[in-house]
Amino acid sequence: MSDSFSNRISTPKRGVFLALIVLIFFISALVSLVQLRESIQILEARYGTSVWSMFQLRIEMRRFYDALDYYHEDEHDVERIQERYDLLWSRFPVLLEGLDGEHLHNVEQGTLILQNAFSELKKQEAEVFEQLASDPRSAQRVRDAISPHLAAIERLTLENYHLNNEAFNRGDAQIAALQQKLVILILGLIISGSLLLHMVVKENRRNRYQALHDSLTMMPNRAYLRRELTDLCNRRRPFAMHMIDLNGFKDVNDSLGHHTGDLLLKAVAARLVELVDHHHKSLTCRLGGDEFAVLQYGVATEDEMQPVIRQIIDALEDEFLVEGHACYIGASIGSVLYPEHGHDASTLLSRVDMAMYKAKEQGPTSSARLFQLEMDKWQQRRHQLNRDLREAIASGGLHIQYQPIVSLSDGSVRSLEALLRWNHPELGPISPLDIIDVAEQYGVANELGCWIIERVCQQYQQWLESDTDMPPVSINISPSMYRLDLVDTITQLIRKYGLSDGNIWIEVTEDTTMKVIKEAEIVLSELKEHGVSIALDDFGTGLSSLSHLQQLNLQALKIDRSFVKDIICCETSAALVKNIIAIGHDLGMRVVAEGIEDRDSAALLARYGCDYGQGYLFSRPLLPAQIPGFCRQYGLHQSVLLMRAG
Ligand code: C2E
Ligand code: MG
Ligand code: MG
Repeated sequence: MSDSFSNRISTPKRGVFLALIVLIFFISALVSLVQLRESIQILEARYGTSVWSMFQLRIEMRRFYDALDYYHEDEHDVERIQERYDLLWSRFPVLLEGLDGEHLHNVEQGTLILQNAFSELKKQEAEVFEQLASDPRSAQRVRDAISPHLAAIERLTLENYHLNNEAFNRGDAQIAALQQKLVILILGLIISGSLLLHMVVKENRRNRYQALHDSLTMMPNRAYLRRELTDLCNRRRPFAMHMIDLNGFKDVNDSLGHHTGDLLLKAVAARLVELVDHHHKSLTCRLGGDEFAVLQYGVATEDEMQPVIRQIIDALEDEFLVEGHACYIGASIGSVLYPEHGHDASTLLSRVDMAMYKAKEQGPTSSARLFQLEMDKWQQRRHQLNRDLREAIASGGLHIQYQPIVSLSDGSVRSLEALLRWNHPELGPISPLDIIDVAEQYGVANELGCWIIERVCQQYQQWLESDTDMPPVSINISPSMYRLDLVDTITQLIRKYGLSDGNIWIEVTEDTTMKVIKEAEIVLSELKEHGVSIALDDFGTGLSSLSHLQQLNLQALKIDRSFVKDIICCETSAALVKNIIAIGHDLGMRVVAEGIEDRDSAALLARYGCDYGQGYLFSRPLLPAQIPGFCRQYGLHQSVLLMRAG
């Protein structure tokens, strides 16, 4: 079967085809076995005939008869006759009791003739062994007695011979027919066996190809890259590896759908092959998701890598037109050099990953970073944090501080933001952003998120037990928690600790919400139904559009500190913040300004109509025990601003 033939068979049809061939193979094999058995039986029947035994008997009988004929009253003659007698005697049991005799049933009176001859022979035993030596006429008597039986045996021998001959001829014809069938069957076996072998070899080759190639782009995959890296390291050939993560790919995927996302990935793959691999000595692989790697052969220095890096960025920053949609993406590229940055595939892959991660941190625009040894320390720190985080969650190493959010008009405390704290025994205080980042990367985010929500609800219950009037607390939600059953988790914990509607708020960031906009929309509207209000955190730093803001049914908008901190000295920042406040109000939201550190900013924000403020000017994050006192001190009527100013 030619390759093109097997390629023309689609996968489901290939299964049926294979099953058919296997069936033919087994049927042929089975029928061949049956035919073979039949042939053997025929042959056994042929070789098991009694012809030879009958001839032997006839010869022995004739010899005995002749010996009697030549008897001359000689002592030797007597011995010879007795010897012949014994030999003849021994031929009968073979035919009367053995398998050979069975064939004689087919000859008319065959067995009877034999039995009569044998009994006659037995009767002559006394004559042969006792009379013959003394009485010469005895030979004549024995001869006369045996003679009719000799004639009968000779006739029986001939008839048996003819019968067997007919059976022989019949058997030959049967065997010839069987042989013909066998030839056809063996031909079937050979053909179906060869087809099977061909398909197995092809399947094997296909499996190997699939194991080493990406099914969407048909590019070499991570396994292929690892093999290639190991090979290059073994041969000590210098090379560079660039790991590429596409900036903005997730937005395309989320907003235009997975189908468009897949088409974009194919277009990226094709462009990298065409613009990079075809012009440089390089090989592009797809590692999964929106990650690609380019192996640049024969490169030993940072300078030699630059043209390829430039080419990758140019190739990816150019517009992609996918199904009529203009898509704009970029690249975060991490690079390593062999042997400078590692001597084996695992080290190089892990280090290029770190470099890529660092490049990604540099921002939404395209950027490239070469691995540096300090990155190892950064990675080790992350590993250590990951190891210790689970332990810290379980053993109470984490705690939560609460930062008041106040009304900018009267300074009263309007809500609290729960902020995670971890004082690591060796590394000191760890930023909550780092904790969340590690938790997200190593799959602890949901466990940590649940712990935070429960801890806050528990704390709230404790406050309520001593102070009846408490402002709501907002909890920051990390990205992967959308996939957790967030609504159930929060509502169950609210119920467990006896809290009421409005006690708990949540804060979501633009980036995480926009990345899972569909999930977020459902989760957030369900939470709203359960009395949990939602604030959009760090507004202005992420990817949200105004239409998304409308879509999400948010109750508060928190303007990021990066805008707020410059409003006094920078008119653009001031204008921007003023407009964000107006948009927030137009969309029916309360607006919170984050990171207010000075009175002038607070006053300007108040003039712009900003509802609430959060920042060191009012209070740093406080321990839970300090909160009731703070709320009592500034309460609903006293102005924190005025107190601070006074
Ligand atoms: P965020 O939600 O925007 O929280 C406000 C951050 O600004 C806090 O930093 C707070 O301490 C800081 N901040 C408040 N006022 C000022 C000010 O006047 N000046 C300056 N320089 N900073 C101020 P923190 O506690 O380091 O938290 C950083 C970020 O970590 C948070 O930003 C939030 O995104 C995240 N985070 C904190 N706790 C949690 C948590 O429990 N869960 C999740 N998922 N994320 C958390
Ligand atoms: Mg927040
Ligand atoms: Mg914030």
